[in-house]
Amino acid sequence: MFYKSTRSNSQATALAAQIIKQGLAEDGGLFVPESIPALTEEEITALCKDTYPVRAAKILSKFLTDYTYEELLEDCEAAYDEAAFVGGAAPLVNLYDSMEILELWHGPTAAFKDMALQIMPRLLSRALKKTGEDRTALILVATSGDTGKAALEGYRDIDGVKIMVFYPVDGVSRVQKLQMSTQKGENVNVCAIEGNFDDAQTGVKVIFGDAAMAQKLNENGYFFSSANSINWGRLAPQIVYYVSAYCDLINSGKCKLGDPFNVCVPTGNFGNIFAAYLAKLMGLPVDRLICASNANNILTDFLHTGTYDRNRDFYLTMSPSMDILISSNLERLLYFTAGSERTAAYMEELKKNGVYTVSSDVKSAIDESFKGYFADEKETARVINEVYTKYNYLADTHTAVAISAAMQYVKESGDARPMVIDSTASPYKFANNVYKAVTKKTPTDDLAALDELAEATGTSIPYPLAGLAEREVRFTKVVHREEMANAVLEYLGI
Ligand SMILES: *Cc1c(COP(=O)(O)O)cnc(C)c1O
Repeated sequence: MFYKSTRSNSQATALAAQIIKQGLAEDGGLFVPESIPALTEEEITALCKDTYPVRAAKILSKFLTDYTYEELLEDCEAAYDEAAFVGGAAPLVNLYDSMEILELWHGPTAAFKDMALQIMPRLLSRALKKTGEDRTALILVATSGDTGKAALEGYRDIDGVKIMVFYPVDGVSRVQKLQMSTQKGENVNVCAIEGNFDDAQTGVKVIFGDAAMAQKLNENGYFFSSANSINWGRLAPQIVYYVSAYCDLINSGKCKLGDPFNVCVPTGNFGNIFAAYLAKLMGLPVDRLICASNANNILTDFLHTGTYDRNRDFYLTMSPSMDILISSNLERLLYFTAGSERTAAYMEELKKNGVYTVSSDVKSAIDESFKGYFADEKETARVINEVYTKYNYLADTHTAVAISAAMQYVKESGDARPMVIDSTASPYKFANNVYKAVTKKTPTDDLAALDELAEATGTSIPYPLAGLAEREVRFTKVVHREEMANAVLEYLGI
């Protein structure tokens, strides 16, 4: 299987190992496979009997053809180990009627980023060997909290890779700060910077673009790499849990082989929902894809009107992983519905004017699969309270946005097919706001909120978030933005 850029007409020539190492295409586009491999009913039947790691290895082997099945199976078994994913990698839990919650947060950081970040570093490590790379990859990450922790856990103690994470010293919660400063692993480093998330991100971009720095790294056997969510190595593993959820629907008798189902995804960068679309293109009988947004409802508007317009207010919400105005992976959907030439033109318009409108044929093609709904802050809190009181289910803030969207869709359409709703974070990851919504009281502080939520609901804190205050703090460094490059060199000892 060869890959090409979303913005290029030329023939696909790069193998998976190459594009996982490279991340972004030279022309600024995202990598896409030259064709979509089929998933047959016979294969689905066989997958129904498999464990999650085997399901993952089988699906990935259709896309990563330059990896052997044995390599993929070894990596999937290590990544989705039961000790790391307590209670299963992607269990399906009934909410009520045909509403099913797909819990994607059983991994080592209690959020769905683990589904990709536990496997992608292993794929990268192999990619370095496959492409004859003898330097060590240095992953630099700027984080507003959650991605940094998931990346640290994913890359820790992986061969051929080191990782350094920068976070804004006053821009993350106490829980997030503790999670990162107590990170274990021999190849990890964490550094706080004075400033906000934008400062951290700009600082990392400056380092990535610094030729003298790149040369210095090269001379010492290193090169820069990124853990960015547009990397195909993060996207491909996300296809797996949609197939897995369908197998579980069949196994529990809720679907017969071939019966259609819907999915609803709390969406930020459009990676997760795009993976569901790919599963559909492969032949999985997904009917509707419900795209759920918070108050930053740029995607809801796009799906209704065909116009993507980022010239709008930006809101900080209680579902921060969806606070986003540019959904990078939407470019991949444009490629599959509009082709590379128009995709390149839309992206150029977006860059120049912050807005583009897709042609009517593209809009119709998207309408055939996608529907968009959003939930504002009040609605999100209301849904957390309602599903807890009525169905005894504790949903995190992002999940609540998706549940709201799924309910809006069902109410509007009367569609009673099984609805798989992605749950992207443990409620304990956002304990503060979940506690408020459930009890209508304010917790003592965001760390105490974990215990207070457990106390109030009789549920337990997942292992990645338990006993945080007692862990050994390993990283205490705080630097000015101008000092970030020096901090990198110091960490590498060069
Ligand atoms: C990243 C994230 C999302 C958004 O996923 P995308 O693939 O970026 O659309 C939703 N919820 C949580 C908790 C996340 O961490």
